[in-house]
Amino acid sequence: MNIDPRPPMTLNWNLWHGCTKASTGCLHCYMYRRDEAIGKDPSVVYKTDSFDLPVKRLRSGKYKGLYKIPKGSHIFTCFSSDFFHPDADKWRDEAWDMMHERSDCTFFMITKRPQRIADHLPAGWGDEFSHVTIAVTCENQDMVDARLPVYLSLPLYHHAVMVEPILSSVNLQPYIEKYRSSDGSPVIKHVSAGGESGRDARVCDYAWVEDLHGQCVENGISFYYHQTGAKLIKDGKLYNIPRPLQHSQAHQAGLDT
Ligand code: SF4
Repeated sequence: MNIDPRPPMTLNWNLWHGCTKASTGCLHCYMYRRDEAIGKDPSVVYKTDSFDLPVKRLRSGKYKGLYKIPKGSHIFTCFSSDFFHPDADKWRDEAWDMMHERSDCTFFMITKRPQRIADHLPAGWGDEFSHVTIAVTCENQDMVDARLPVYLSLPLYHHAVMVEPILSSVNLQPYIEKYRSSDGSPVIKHVSAGGESGRDARVCDYAWVEDLHGQCVENGISFYYHQTGAKLIKDGKLYNIPRPLQHSQAHQAGLDT
């Protein structure tokens, strides 16, 4: 089971579009930037034309599979909204049904609303949905302290924490120690970190990323440095990293495990 979001991320499935800001990590949300640039209201949540993509059938019987999304795909879900946004409550049951039908694929989603997860899991959650990973985003220590106690108590198969955009140093150790699986290992299985991109990006101090990486290595948690962000401080010096290099430079740092 692949529970981390690093490339190759096989396919994207955007069920609904639009969102409202949940915390400071949303300040420069790329979806807001993009929609506002074309005069669209990003806070209006609507179902997309791709809503039923995983269960759409191919017209031609010549293809190997039945569906437009091939068997075994790893699908990144809901990337211009939040799967647990309240305005999507009316569509979520159908979305769960589609994921259930496509248990031959894996699904990955990221939320800033872990407090809404428990009340919006489908009937049959557990073995029937072991192919679905719900990750949480915590951009600073305040959000770690607010979201992780809720998130790590949830009956999820896979727990993954995205610290992106990382806005401060983050101490996961109390949560790594407190929340343990039945085999004694940390409930958190994967951590990703990354700086903020875009014209108004806030700085990322490389020392925060290194520190987080160290916490993960020490506790046997997989770690992925997703991107440097546009403004990176390293050894006290500020670097402006061009967008095309932000992912590659992060991977060159050699922190991925
Ligand atoms: S939760 Fe995600 S999609 Fe929604 S406003 Fe925040 S960053 Fe944007």
